[in-house]
Amino acid sequence: MATSGPHAKPADNALPSGPAQVAFLCDEMLAGLGRWLRAAGYDTVVVERGIDDRQVARRAVHEGRVLLTRDRRLAEQVAGTGAVLLLGGNDIYAWARELAERLALDWMFRPFSRCLCCNTPLELADAAQQGDLPPAVRGTQNVRYCTACDKLFWEGSHVRRMQQRLREWKGRYTQDGAVFADTVTVGVDLSVFGLDEQSD
Ligand SMILES: [Zn+2]
Repeated sequence: MATSGPHAKPADNALPSGPAQVAFLCDEMLAGLGRWLRAAGYDTVVVERGIDDRQVARRAVHEGRVLLTRDRRLAEQVAGTGAVLLLGGNDIYAWARELAERLALDWMFRPFSRCLCCNTPLELADAAQQGDLPPAVRGTQNVRYCTACDKLFWEGSHVRRMQQRLREWKGRYTQDGAVFADTVTVGVDLSVFGLDEQSD
């Protein structure tokens, strides 16, 4: 079973040099993964339905985003001009593991710093923005606000559960001493990534 290392053919499409700079483009099949990447704090765009492969490929290259896809044909369109990771797993846990192992992605990068719905960086909510919240939540330090979709995020049970899962992924999948992308060249991985464990 392959557990680490670049299972990728050599290409000149290395990732940006640090986690702060990495941004993702998820194909529409990976919208759920995109939401988790936003929860972890990564700038992540999910492709809208009906966009053709060439446009997706162009967008990934133009915006310098790492394309995440399960579609080999789409991955091949980007390989050579942009960064792409062809995911082999079948569920969110497998993908969480692949990203941690192959990109040294930090699942606790900047938790809940971006809107889960639209990717906009969140701001701390002021008193007026917190007006509709339950009294127990209002005035706490951790209420955040999305200016684009007028949504509030706070550490209620749903957010706490998501944070807990992000922590588990980080603890379980992060490789000791992994250095983000320094030695990883992302290309089209034509082997199916072997997984010996499916959590939860
Ligand atoms: Zn939003």
